[in-house]
Amino acid sequence: MQGEQGRNAVQRGGFDPHTVFEKILAGELPATFVYRDDLVAAFMDIQPITPGHTLVVPLLKAATLAELPPATGERMFAVAQRIGAAIRRTELACEGINLFLADGVAAGQTVFHLHLHVFPRHAEDGFRWKLPDGYYTPPPREEIANTGAAIRAALAAD
Ligand code: 5GP
Repeated sequence: MQGEQGRNAVQRGGFDPHTVFEKILAGELPATFVYRDDLVAAFMDIQPITPGHTLVVPLLKAATLAELPPATGERMFAVAQRIGAAIRRTELACEGINLFLADGVAAGQTVFHLHLHVFPRHAEDGFRWKLPDGYYTPPPREEIANTGAAIRAALAAD
């Protein structure tokens, strides 16, 4: 999920301090904006997965989730929720909505200015998640419980 300029940013090392999204927010590069407030803005993705694919981005500089102030994250989700509802009120093909956020290279992040994808889905849109081998053989419940316990402990130490 990356446009030409996103791809170029990655080729330059992925951590360009002046990401393409900062340039868009500053008005230095064009984009089709649909929303802006005091914390976030939203504009159309240059390479949409489906028509209507929109990106919700913080105005402040945050490359990753760890750098994102929680209040800004809350606003990003609230605006994504509104945009999803708005998309459903358009003529765009939309039987469902996906929200997706990539935090880190391994998660598929290509532009290091955090962003929440909002894109409409329908049965014939051709988009599918590729699940890992073994997905349909779930691990024993004990393994899942142990993993949950590790996360609970990490949360408690927060
Ligand atoms: P990621 O892979 O980081 O989750 O998503 C980056 C997204 O940014 C991709 O969906 C890609 O199409 C989009 N993108 C990359 N460069 C540009 C650009 O210059 N303008 C716009 N509007 N979207 C871009």
